[in-house]
Amino acid sequence: MNVFVTGGTGYIGSHTCVELLEAGHSVVVADNLVNSSPESLRRVEKLTGKAVPFYNADIRDRDALNRIFDQYSFDCAIHFAGLKAVGESVEQPLRYYRNNLDSTMTLMEVMGDRGVKNILFSSSATVYSQDNTMPLTEESRTGGCTNPYGWTKFMCEEIMRSTAKADGEWSVMLLRYFNPVGAHPSGLMGEDPRGIPNNLMPFITQTAAGRRDHLNVFGNDYPTPDGTGVRDYIHVVDLAKGHVAAMQYMAEHRGTHVFNLGTGTGYSVLDMVHAFEKATGKPLPYKIAPRRPGDVAVVYADPSKSEKLLGWKAELDLEDMCRDSWNWQSHNPNGYGEEEK
Ligand code: NAD
Ligand code: UDP
Repeated sequence: MNVFVTGGTGYIGSHTCVELLEAGHSVVVADNLVNSSPESLRRVEKLTGKAVPFYNADIRDRDALNRIFDQYSFDCAIHFAGLKAVGESVEQPLRYYRNNLDSTMTLMEVMGDRGVKNILFSSSATVYSQDNTMPLTEESRTGGCTNPYGWTKFMCEEIMRSTAKADGEWSVMLLRYFNPVGAHPSGLMGEDPRGIPNNLMPFITQTAAGRRDHLNVFGNDYPTPDGTGVRDYIHVVDLAKGHVAAMQYMAEHRGTHVFNLGTGTGYSVLDMVHAFEKATGKPLPYKIAPRRPGDVAVVYADPSKSEKLLGWKAELDLEDMCRDSWNWQSHNPNGYGEEEK
């Protein structure tokens, strides 16, 4: 298939481009580079030996999208583009709502005009309500989000669902990611967050690399085996492969479909620290800090629907996630800002 990839220079988008190209699909990427570097696509090209046309465009810019759609005949879009920092969304809600909702609506309008009515969307486990029991299935309650970022994902899901309900030609795949970590095993690609990382794994890798003093472990008094928060970490390459499987399913099924992309296994913050220490062979300095507001004790997926219907399941384990994250970080201490060594 010929795939329009929004946000394709970003962390998950770039890894998905590799898997799409390796599965024989072709991709065209648009991204406004607000949180990424076009160098990621050079690495995709290096790894796959295939060209990746890139457009520096804002997905809210209808004219820019029309110009791209004039040049290509797409079968579907994967919509990764979006702002994703939870804390920032609390401080700048309008920027988040404007960016994430407007880009989704503009993209769907342009696609609809062209009769390209197949879309996969980067949703998140954050759309699930906090009062669910674990593991989370696709039927678990949604809503009650604790921050504007989460609400943008919830609202985009609704926008897409309503569109597919009104026009039966649409196929919408709502992919709810759990906690993506890791990097391409080549060491050529990985996560390159701007500024101080919000998420656990990039903070760990930067601490191990000496860029940060120590990791703050947010709370050790949760009702979990070691008191620290438990999450469902999934290797980004597994996640990327999940998109290839979902795209295949979408081609054969109209309407809206929701899938969890997680492993089904929860690890605590200290599990992550110890696994990372094993991967690097050196201790990771950390301090116990107060709980982070808005955090819950335990989140993990029931991925059985994805396994049954998509024929996909995560295959890489915690050791792979830590090894590949460290391989990327240690060979690219400044992310894409510097050539790999
Ligand atoms: P990322 O920031 O690396 O990638 C998102 C990309 O979108 C960036 O390259 C950014 O420049 C681009 N972008 C943002 N707004 C844009 C706009 N208006 N026009 C064009 N490009 C725009 O983030 P990621 O981790 O690769 O996440 C990809 C998607 O998955 C996002 O929608 C994110 O919300 C979602 N998601 C991520 C996680 C996670 O933990 N990484 C978890 C669940 C869902
Ligand atoms: N966490 C932590 N220190 C950090 C960043 C995160 O202890 O510097 C914890 C956080 O409290 C949560 C887990 O690590 O229990 C995963 O957090 P992350 O922000 O990566 O993902 P999310 O909150 O979206 O699940």
